[in-house]
Amino acid sequence: MDAWILTCRACRAPLSLPLTALDAQVDPARLEEGRDVVPRGCLWPAAPGFAELHAVRGGDWMVCRADLPDAVSRGDHGCCGPSGLDGPNLHCPGCDAAFATEMGDCWAPHVVGVDPRRVERAQAEVSTAVYVYEGGGGAWAFAAWLHETLAAEDWYGLELGQLAAAWAARAPGAVVVVWVGADDEEAAGTPVTAMMAALAGAGPGVTAVRAGLAPEVEAG
Ligand SMILES: [Zn+2]
Ligand SMILES: [Zn+2]
Repeated sequence: MDAWILTCRACRAPLSLPLTALDAQVDPARLEEGRDVVPRGCLWPAAPGFAELHAVRGGDWMVCRADLPDAVSRGDHGCCGPSGLDGPNLHCPGCDAAFATEMGDCWAPHVVGVDPRRVERAQAEVSTAVYVYEGGGGAWAFAAWLHETLAAEDWYGLELGQLAAAWAARAPGAVVVVWVGADDEEAAGTPVTAMMAALAGAGPGVTAVRAGLAPEVEAG
């Protein structure tokens, strides 16, 4: 699991907090207006063909605005946040180069699309662990996988809140689970929403997000 700090290609100024790269050909699923697309601490490469968000092009790196604390917002006209409709609107604090486009208005999902041609990556300590769950086996399969992934010392069954609380008490550190095919699995009867809520209810230690297969992967 690689972690990186983004720096400005032009002036080398640091642009981000440490970000864990998500290495999987998946797209975020169920994009919700007003909600972050990418979990804190993650760098999510937009798969080739990714076309859901106007501020993000395939090949961009999607990140959370909060992970770019020093970026300067300018040149955008949203109603209550930057719309991203006017092109790149996040600038380097060192040299003012525009390196990313933020969507942060009320009517759209919130995400920043970083142009990889404008930044470089410097190795960093991993701050967030990201695991990809391939899905498909129902609630018990997910519970078993998560127990194993977190190296749980006890078996909590489907009591995922207890599992997450035990993790937080034992090993402080953020874990993000990317659940591939979560929407399909929910349609087939797995209570994905309730399971994710149980994890979230236990605090920030373990977060699960939905993902779908990228178009190219499905086509191939
Ligand atoms: Zn608005
Ligand atoms: Zn710069």
